[in-house]
Amino acid sequence: APQQTVDVHELLDATLVMLQAKIPPGVRLVKEYDRSAPPLLAYGAELNQVWTNLIDNALGAMGGSGTLTLRTWHDDNGLLIEVGDTGPGIPPEVRPRIFEPFFTTKPVGEGTGLGLDISYRIIVNKHRGDIRVQSEPGDTRFLVYLPINPESE
Ligand code: ADP
Ligand code: MG
Repeated sequence: APQQTVDVHELLDATLVMLQAKIPPGVRLVKEYDRSAPPLLAYGAELNQVWTNLIDNALGAMGGSGTLTLRTWHDDNGLLIEVGDTGPGIPPEVRPRIFEPFFTTKPVGEGTGLGLDISYRIIVNKHRGDIRVQSEPGDTRFLVYLPINPESE
């Protein structure tokens, strides 16, 4: 599919609807959307895949309870989308490898280790954006940057 004009918040909400059944009652959802963020020219279906991967990881990390945070804000150049969780965090020795294809710390059959690899390629290669992580125990945040006027593929 070609690029479309997308509202990132609509995409995030659509992903939440898709994942609704996987959000346990003990997980609180906090949404802090910057509604003044401009629409983006982007690959909507691919972005939904990224939100799905990040939210799935966040839910998996928290188990049955915690807080899932979706935050957005913007500046003149782009949008920032943060997916945060209150899970145990990413150990420093694991951190450098998480974007590698097939890297997973999950039991065999539970993780493919492809979610972050695919997400990185969608954000960085396809949208000329950026994806970073900040993590300490109880506070993990994946931060996605999407440029408003990308020179995309
Ligand atoms: P998978 O989910 O199949 O393991 P991913 O590429 O999505 O593959 O993630 C790779 C690894 O990164 C995970 O196995 C886990 O070790 C780590 N990780 C990703 N997101 C989180 C998170 N929110 N909290 C803790 N660890 C995470
Ligand atoms: Mg994953």
